[in-house]
Amino acid sequence: MKILKFGGKSLANGKGIHSVINIIEDKVRKNERITVVLSARGNTTDELEEILEKASKGKPYQEQLEVLKKYQLDDFKGVDFTQEFETLDKLFEGVSLLGDYSKRIKDQVLSQGEVISAKLVTQLLREKDIKANFTDSRSLIITDTQFGDAQPLDKLSKENVISHFNKHNGTTVNVVTGFIASNTNNETTTLGRNGSNYTASLLANYLEAEELQNFTHVNGIYTANPDLVPDAKKIERLSFAEANELAYFGANILHAKTIIPLIEKNIPLRILNTFDYKNDGTLITATSSEKGIKSLSVIEDVALINLEGRGLLGKVGVDARIFRVLAHKNISVSIISQGSSERGIGFVVEADKAKEAKAVLEQEFESDFHKRDVSGISIEENVSVISIIGQDLSTFHKPYNALIKNQVIPLLFNNTVTGATVSLVVKKEQLHRALNVIHGEIFEIAKKINLAIFGHGLVGGTLIEQILKSSEQIEKRKKINLNIFAVANSRKVLLDKNGINKHWKDDIDEKGISYTIEDIVRYADEHHLENLIAIDNTASEAFTAHYIHLVEHGFDLVSSNKVANTLSFDFYKKLREKLERNQKQYLYETNVGAGLPLIDTIKLLHLSGENITRIKGVFSGSLSYLFNTYSNENRLFSEVLQEAIDKGFTEPDPREDLCGNDVGRKLLILARELDLSNEFDDINIHNLIPEELRLGRAQEFLEKLNNLNPVYQKIKEEQKPNHVLRYIGDLWGDLSKEKGNLDVKLVSVPQSSALGQVKGSDSIFEIYTESYGDQPIVIQGAGAGAAVTARGVFGDILRLTEKG
Ligand code: ASP
Ligand code: MG
Repeated sequence: MKILKFGGKSLANGKGIHSVINIIEDKVRKNERITVVLSARGNTTDELEEILEKASKGKPYQEQLEVLKKYQLDDFKGVDFTQEFETLDKLFEGVSLLGDYSKRIKDQVLSQGEVISAKLVTQLLREKDIKANFTDSRSLIITDTQFGDAQPLDKLSKENVISHFNKHNGTTVNVVTGFIASNTNNETTTLGRNGSNYTASLLANYLEAEELQNFTHVNGIYTANPDLVPDAKKIERLSFAEANELAYFGANILHAKTIIPLIEKNIPLRILNTFDYKNDGTLITATSSEKGIKSLSVIEDVALINLEGRGLLGKVGVDARIFRVLAHKNISVSIISQGSSERGIGFVVEADKAKEAKAVLEQEFESDFHKRDVSGISIEENVSVISIIGQDLSTFHKPYNALIKNQVIPLLFNNTVTGATVSLVVKKEQLHRALNVIHGEIFEIAKKINLAIFGHGLVGGTLIEQILKSSEQIEKRKKINLNIFAVANSRKVLLDKNGINKHWKDDIDEKGISYTIEDIVRYADEHHLENLIAIDNTASEAFTAHYIHLVEHGFDLVSSNKVANTLSFDFYKKLREKLERNQKQYLYETNVGAGLPLIDTIKLLHLSGENITRIKGVFSGSLSYLFNTYSNENRLFSEVLQEAIDKGFTEPDPREDLCGNDVGRKLLILARELDLSNEFDDINIHNLIPEELRLGRAQEFLEKLNNLNPVYQKIKEEQKPNHVLRYIGDLWGDLSKEKGNLDVKLVSVPQSSALGQVKGSDSIFEIYTESYGDQPIVIQGAGAGAAVTARGVFGDILRLTEKG
């Protein structure tokens, strides 16, 4: 025998009730032996409660009552609820006259909902030629006299149930009213709201059913509430103990009193969906087959009360007093946390009870206030509790770290000593993000990384294409989901929480909106986006002013833009302090040598205590090309320069390269990696532009390139044999001091040296360290270009996702 229980939503008019009939019919046709337990249909119980309330206050209730009757009758033919409706009329009339009602009367009122429901279903089944037997549970389940929350008397009830089923068995389907019962005086009682679950499990127990199937409007128990966590998954199977913890779901179906009769007889409970009958639902048994089931449950609206005081230390009975006065007011406490110093105690109560709780506590501790033993009682409103079920403390650091990384700092947390549940109290506004972060972490679902990309020119645009192209692979291989939720230029931003697609360029034009940084921060916040990274591919100084704001709002930073690292040393330090305080990272591998793994190498060497004594090299791809070519070929300097311009190797105004500032900035960035506090002004830069050509518009300069020839011809000729020209950055001196020497200069080196052998537009970096002595570590390769730079930025993004 299987017990099928259908709830109010399943039995609602329309699709619900028809599905219920179909399900029962299907089982009967398959010769399954079943018993059906029903609650009232739709919101009937709530409605009856409301009407009762109105009547007792002398308010007009008839209209609502008529609506309710109509609902029950709907379009059903051949049903007759005259008796139930008359009973209701009489009861409400009496209550209205009296201006009051007892719990006894209330139970009589509410019970009609179940009676009507079971009568209807019986009738509908009979119309399908199914032998159905309306069974009023008041003649079966006998309880004590606590109306509204009656306790079944087991022995009597069991005898009744067994003898009833002995009479009506075989192919007859007993259609039983849930929720309602009677006391030994034959007065109607009820088992408490949602009590038909209890009725069903009592029947299952007495009849030793093989399974209790509880039909709801969801497919089963999920790893988290799917409304809050889109990635939530259905749990196929779990144990009663595990299920018991699932407060968001369990409050009624998995109520302790409901599951105890099942556990006692080892009867499995299956949660099914009336509206998706083919789905297997969730099976709950005494033991779970899978090990380590985890899930998240939430209590959304609670308040945290904190009672604080130095005088509490060592005092006996403080906690007892707190709970006594709260209990007196019927205020239940869900989570408690108290430090060993007893300086304070924090606990969680229902949101609408918080003010009252504070008031009674203030009253209780009034004299302690005067003695200054208690210094304050405060309420933190709008908080939520997240419980991670199946989580013990040995791996708790994972979800916890993920939370902190996402700037969700729990207000309080505690764990159960036995079992494995960790509960966290978080601000309600952070609940959504917190849940998704924890869920992603504990189920190792692809971690979503949300990217905001600023600047979509050559480097930025290439980066976006690279990300879009490889994101699927990365998700498969590394379980990382790269989601570009914002692309911005200096005027417009394209926002899409689900990620931009390959049409992003058109979309910016069409859907881009003007913005401030704050808008982007707010967008991320409002959509609960986690694991945020801001990527600066602009060359703008103005944009670096936003870095700190972004860091304070939970963004890690990646930039190909060098400016932030070459402003004042004060800013450099301040940014790092903010990063540290907010536990954020800033990566900028492409600032020097584009994608070459230079900065990371220097960082590691320096961090591991290796003394770097000098860094020297060709830092600029464009100037590398210029001097490599000029040294090797017998051509005019202006010709080679023009060629570099034409190939796009230089900035549109080549003076930006020739002035040496760009090399200077890169050198400064490396110096600062070694903790040197140099400023840009400390760099000795050999400007390659003759004085008279430094001012004026670019066009004028481009017309006078010939003027450069005599200068460089002379320099070239004055070299020793087999020497070549190289424009280098050189960081040297005692680098353990506060500042180093930074030179940017044109040098002549033997062609056979490492520097002398650089070709094309390659960069080269020689890193001299104490243990490597005269043999520097050399890093060489393409040190410029949109594709390699974008690749380098991409690398930084991936590095960040691994750190998190
Ligand atoms: N109809 C009752 C209620 O709404 C009992 C139940 O649904 O289980 O509480
Ligand atoms: Mg690099």
